[in-house]
Amino acid sequence: MAEPNDPTAGVGAGGGFSDGDLVLLVDGKNRSYLRRLTAGGFFHSHSGLLAWDDLMGRPEGSEVRSVGGTRFLAFRPTLSDFVVKMKRGAQVIYPKDLGPMLLLADIAPGQRVLESGVGSGALSLALLRAGAEVFGYEIRPDFARRASKNVQEFLGPEALARYHLSERDCYEGIDVEDLDRVALDLPEPWRVAPHAADRLLPGGILIAYTPSVVQAARLRESLERGPWALAATVEVLQRGWHIAGEAVRPDHRMVAHTGFLTHARRLGA
Ligand code: SAH
Repeated sequence: MAEPNDPTAGVGAGGGFSDGDLVLLVDGKNRSYLRRLTAGGFFHSHSGLLAWDDLMGRPEGSEVRSVGGTRFLAFRPTLSDFVVKMKRGAQVIYPKDLGPMLLLADIAPGQRVLESGVGSGALSLALLRAGAEVFGYEIRPDFARRASKNVQEFLGPEALARYHLSERDCYEGIDVEDLDRVALDLPEPWRVAPHAADRLLPGGILIAYTPSVVQAARLRESLERGPWALAATVEVLQRGWHIAGEAVRPDHRMVAHTGFLTHARRLGA
């Protein structure tokens, strides 16, 4: 069993599947299903049952068949797989933005990170997976419970030792001291920036995800009035490509917009 502060908790061991593992089943049409393996249990597929016992002990990447003959490849889910499939309360930040957020905020093991709002816990999962200690402020207790369950499901109960959730309104203040990072995904981040400045260590980083550029601009105005430097706002565009023999072209459809990422560094006192 992993130590409570082990950032590798929840990372697949590389061994065969065993009882209680999360598994991602992918069929020939690239449809995927996220389930938990239970000894003696079954996956109810559109083409009939698949016995989980057929998968026990076998390595990731194994092929299994339902009684109706549909083939599935079985893998342990990646963090991205889990985030897009997990149960949600609030809308999540997608992997396209989670990855860049980790580097823009330079998240590293042992850092003290204030996150608000917590929502469904997608950003929490990314921060915890990167080894941070996360202090989450969320006004909706039902969302906080969902986030905590999602973290436990993917990273295991050990990760909860680094995940401190409070039912709090982040606009009213932050009571955690000596923060390395502040990560925001709530409607009015400019109302948090002054509190964040009080609690961040010199050189600390604030990052905020905002669906609207008007929110990003208001945040930038508030950063200009405070002890901040190196403020910047970016948008991450991701375009998939269809590659099949001679047919090589961009996908016809893409997600045209998710949100803007604004980040800045706390000046020395
Ligand atoms: N980043 C999250 C999604 C957050 S959705 C994820 O990736 O899963 C925005 C959340 O902010 C909602 O859950 C909402 O309840 C919460 N929220 C809104 N205003 C808040 C405030 N003033 N203080 C704390 N949480 C707030």
